[in-house]
Amino acid sequence: MARFIFITGGVVSSLGKGLASASLAAVLQARGYSVRLRKLDPYLNVDPGTMSPTQHGEVFVTDDGAETDLDLGHYERFTDVDARQGDNVTTGRIYSNLIAKERRGDYLGGTVQVIPHVTDLIKAFILSNTEDTDFVLCEIGGTVGDIEALPFFESIRQLGFELGKDHAIYVHLTLVPYLPAAKELKTKPTQHSVKELREIGIQPDIVLCRADREIPANEKQKIALFCNVAEECVISALDVKSIYQVPIKYHEEGFDIQILKHFNLPHENKPNIKKWENLVERDLNPESGEVNIAVVGKYTGLADAYKSLLEALHHAGMANGVKVKIIWVNARSFLKEELPQKLQNVHGILVPGGFGEDGVKGKIAAATYARENNIPYFGICLGMQLAIIEAARNLAGIEKANSSEFKKMDNPVVGLMTEWEKGDSKETRSADGDLGGTMRLGAYECKLKRGTLARSIYKKDLIWERHRHRYEVNVDYKQTLEEAGLVFSGMSPDGNLPEIVENPNHPWFIGVQFHPEFKSRPFEVHPLFKDFIRASLEKRDTHS
Ligand code: GLN
Repeated sequence: MARFIFITGGVVSSLGKGLASASLAAVLQARGYSVRLRKLDPYLNVDPGTMSPTQHGEVFVTDDGAETDLDLGHYERFTDVDARQGDNVTTGRIYSNLIAKERRGDYLGGTVQVIPHVTDLIKAFILSNTEDTDFVLCEIGGTVGDIEALPFFESIRQLGFELGKDHAIYVHLTLVPYLPAAKELKTKPTQHSVKELREIGIQPDIVLCRADREIPANEKQKIALFCNVAEECVISALDVKSIYQVPIKYHEEGFDIQILKHFNLPHENKPNIKKWENLVERDLNPESGEVNIAVVGKYTGLADAYKSLLEALHHAGMANGVKVKIIWVNARSFLKEELPQKLQNVHGILVPGGFGEDGVKGKIAAATYARENNIPYFGICLGMQLAIIEAARNLAGIEKANSSEFKKMDNPVVGLMTEWEKGDSKETRSADGDLGGTMRLGAYECKLKRGTLARSIYKKDLIWERHRHRYEVNVDYKQTLEEAGLVFSGMSPDGNLPEIVENPNHPWFIGVQFHPEFKSRPFEVHPLFKDFIRASLEKRDTHS
């Protein structure tokens, strides 16, 4: 039976619980154990698909088409285990299942209550499909004390009792802030947070303390005493230069050892963390300097909105021995004439995914600028659709070319898809249907055309990539656009959906309908990102 590690957070949000969970999983994996990570999100949306990226960060998409919390991206990148629909749940989903059951009559005669009905569903979710895994790490979103999180805390409390100490452990992540006026690290917020957790019946076994400097032994003793944990179970989580140092640091702090001791598992051997050490070495010492990549998007105010994208660029930088410096260009707020100045020292331009008409003009201008100035261009999802519209307007002379997302029209260059094939089945949507969970989502196959840049980068004929969009490039324009100079280097197997487009009259100009950033991993860098950075580096070096 799996052993469960429940990870909660306190004091403030944004302490990096996702990264902490993923890093602990990576160290356990480095000891030969199998792991699975899960995220329980207390908010009431059924999934984050309808939430704004500027509020909640990116929506991460799994192979099986789930729209999930961005922490699942950390999980995949740190453990290389593909996340599934069943690895992220919200209060909204739990309740919508509960109410469907109630309407069906499953609770006939009974009064439906938070305890036991809601908590039973949460517990069933946590336990489902875990039989063949050594460790299941289960992160509760938000912080202790949040009203909507209570049923989740209650569920893990019950599970701790039901599974027993030898199959469950609680880790609580807190902040130990430094007070400049007192020149001291302060442990009181941690004490309060643990007190709050104990009030709802959960005694943490390990307290993981984020701090910006070493926590002195006497302060650790204080935390241990007040929080009722062993001193060696007060683990420091100090700020690091590279996120990929975290698994190494956790081991140095004895985090993995305390977990194994708790479960009476052998802990004398060292985990095999060599690959992490090599990665960090490369990350912190790029031998080829810096490359400047402009990201022209509209969610530029919050880096979390582009989490996987930034990580994919980071991986590609490490693979090319270079630090990727991001130049944020807010697509909503510049004039076309300002572009040359904004993109002055830029070696590559990336237009990421996005929704809605805001900023579209700026993104199209960036695509034109990249095309005309031979700057490597990488268009992702909306960034691909806009590159197509740009080419249709400026190369093929279709002045009115647009997407029906922005302008209702007959026969648009980019149009709403109402029917497409998924394997052997057909997916259908109507124009006025629900917005939640109804896009083309998850992994789809794509056939690459021989002799194209995309084919030479992937070195394969068939690829699988993850999608999240409602509109598609209209295949009726394929011939016209090809005559104007573009090449459709990737198509859906039935030949109806353009998936990759490139411009062979340009050093590196690629647009993809899917989101390759979701599949990039530090130890398996996505080939498109890797080659985009290589081409940008080439641009830098021919420039200077
Ligand atoms: N808004 C576009 C669509 O729905 C692009 C989506 C995206 O970039 N993820 O098709």
